[in-house]
Amino acid sequence: MEVRNCKSCGRLYNYIGGTYRLCPECMRKLEDKFQEVKEYIEENPRSDMRQISEECDVGTKQIEQWIREERLTFSEESPIGIACEVCGRSIKTGRFCDKCKESMANKLGSMYGSAVGIGNPDEERAKRQKARMRFLDK
Ligand SMILES: [Zn+2]
Ligand SMILES: [Zn+2]
Repeated sequence: MEVRNCKSCGRLYNYIGGTYRLCPECMRKLEDKFQEVKEYIEENPRSDMRQISEECDVGTKQIEQWIREERLTFSEESPIGIACEVCGRSIKTGRFCDKCKESMANKLGSMYGSAVGIGNPDEERAKRQKARMRFLDK
């Protein structure tokens, strides 16, 4: 167990992991705030970031973080959009647009495939043989 200072109130607490560096009490307060923001968005689907920030007394950075975590989602009529971290296209939630997500999934898929030996078995065998030959060359 690690002891850290809470980022919000500065108190020492037992850090148990997670992205938020907050003590349990501030974490609970933040959770309450999240519910408040979520409800506000449901009731005011057309409100923009500044409005939510002012009405719920929460920083736009925090709101954006919730959006990146896909905890907050917005309807089509909402003016809120955040930029895809790869291409900058406006998206409603998460970190990447569908296109970038898809191309990343493809890339990850092929990486994963070669790492654990899924994929074309003949190709895999040839690769292994080559590796063994290289080994014998030494
Ligand atoms: Zn705290
Ligand atoms: Zn993108």
